[in-house]
Amino acid sequence: MPKALVVGGGVAGPAVAALLTRIGWEAPVFEARTAPDPFEGLFLNVAVNGRRVLRTLGWEDRLLADAHPAAEMVMWSGRGKQLGVVPNGPAGRPDDGGVVVRRSWLHEVIRDGAEDAGVTVSYGRRLVDVRETGEGVLARFDDGSEEHGDVVVGADGVGSAVRRQVAPEVVPAFSGLLGSGGFARVPGLAPTPGRQHFVFGTRSFFGYLVRADGTVFWFANLTADEPPAAGIATSTDWLARLRELHADDPAPVPQILDATAGPITVYPIFRLPRVEPWWRGRAVLVGDAVHATSPSAGQGASMALEDAIVLASSLRADPDPAVAFTAYEDARRARAEALVAYAAGIDKQKRVARSRVAIAMRDLMLPIFLRKAGSDRRTDWIFDYDVPWVR
Ligand SMILES: Cc1cc2nc3c(=O)[nH]c(=O)nc-3n(C[C@H](O)[C@H](O)[C@H](O)COP(=O)(O)OP(=O)(O)OC[C@H]3O[C@@H](n4cnc5c(N)ncnc54)[C@H](O)[C@@H]3O)c2cc1C
Repeated sequence: MPKALVVGGGVAGPAVAALLTRIGWEAPVFEARTAPDPFEGLFLNVAVNGRRVLRTLGWEDRLLADAHPAAEMVMWSGRGKQLGVVPNGPAGRPDDGGVVVRRSWLHEVIRDGAEDAGVTVSYGRRLVDVRETGEGVLARFDDGSEEHGDVVVGADGVGSAVRRQVAPEVVPAFSGLLGSGGFARVPGLAPTPGRQHFVFGTRSFFGYLVRADGTVFWFANLTADEPPAAGIATSTDWLARLRELHADDPAPVPQILDATAGPITVYPIFRLPRVEPWWRGRAVLVGDAVHATSPSAGQGASMALEDAIVLASSLRADPDPAVAFTAYEDARRARAEALVAYAAGIDKQKRVARSRVAIAMRDLMLPIFLRKAGSDRRTDWIFDYDVPWVR
C-alpha cells in the first residue's frame, strides 16, 4: 500500500488524507499542535467551491448545522452610508452563497471526517526536516521521531517547514494589513440572517455579522506599512487601540467593540503570490503552504479543499510522484495565483485612505461600481470551479 506522510492537521491535510485513504493509500497526518484547540482562530468564510468539496467528502451537512449563511455582503462608508450589496458567491445564485463558520468548527468537521475514513492524526509532531531516501522519504519530527513514506504532502500552512525543502528561497509577502477579531453579545442588536456587514471605517476596516442566537462575529483589518516585530500579539491594549480607531464609526461598530472582552489577538496577514516550484522530488505543497492568500476574498479554506481533491485525483490517475505532482500543479497554479492577486486587490481597498479627498472619492465611486454587482459575472470563475471525483 503506498504511503503519504501528510504534514499539517488544519484544513488541507486531513482532507487530502481522507481522499487518499479512499483510494487505497495509507495517509497518516502529523500535526505540530499538541491537541485540537477548540478556541483557535476566529471564523472564516467557506465559499460554494469549498462547500462542493465538503459535499463530495460527505461532510457538508454537518458543517452547515452550525454555520451562518451569508450570501450577501453589505458595504458601508465610515459615515454610515450604505455603499452597496455584493453577492458572496456567483451573481444571481444566492443558494450558492458562502457560509461563515468558526474556524475550530471547520477543523472539527474535517478532522472527525478524516478519522472516520480511517486516517490517524498524531498531535505534538512538528516536522523539522524531510529528505529523500533511495525509494521514498524520511521525515523527522521535533520529538526525535521519524517516519518513512513514499511521498510527503506539505499541508503545514503559510510558515510551512516542507516548503523550506521544496522552495527554500520563497518568503511570504506582507499584505499591508493586520487582522484581528472576536466574539461579543450586544443587547438589542438584531441577527443579520444571510448577511455580513463591512464598514470602511475612517481609521480601520471592520466586518461583522450577528448569528440567530445573538452572538456577534467581528473582525478588523488595520492598515500597517510593516508587520509588527513581535509577530502575533495577544493583549488588552490592542482592544483599547481598536476601540479608539473605531470610536467615530457608525453603530453598531463601537458598541460591538465595547461589548468585547479582552484580550484579543492581532496578527500580520501574509500572502504567497508565487511559489516556485510547487513540488520537488517526492514532496508536494498544498493549501496555505503554497498559495497563502489574505482572508479578504474568503477563499483560504476553500482553495485548500480544492487542492486536496485535485492532488488525490492526480495520485489516483498515476501514483508516480513526478507525473501526479505535475498534473496537480498544472491544474492548480494559474487559478491559485489569480486568486491570491484578486484578494490582494481587495486588500488595497481595505487599507485606510490617507486623505479626506481619497475617502470622499471612494465613497462617491463605490456605489457606482457596486450598483451592478448583483448581476456581475466576472467573479463567477472563483465559485464555479468543480473537480469531479469518481467514487
Ligand atoms: C492560527 C490561524 C488562525 C486563522 N484564522 C483565520 C480566520 O480567522 N479567518 C480566515 O479567513 N482565515 C484564517 N486563517 C487562515 C485559514 O485558516 C487558511 O487559509 C486555511 O485554513 C488553509 O488551510 P491549510 O490546511 O492550508 O493551513 P492551516 O489551516 O493553517 O493548517 C496548517 C496546519 O499545519 C500545522 N503545522 C504548521 N507547521 C507544522 C509543522 N512543522 N509540522 C506539523 N504541523 C505543522 C499547523 O499547526 C496547522 O494546524 C487562520 C490560520 C491560522 C494558522
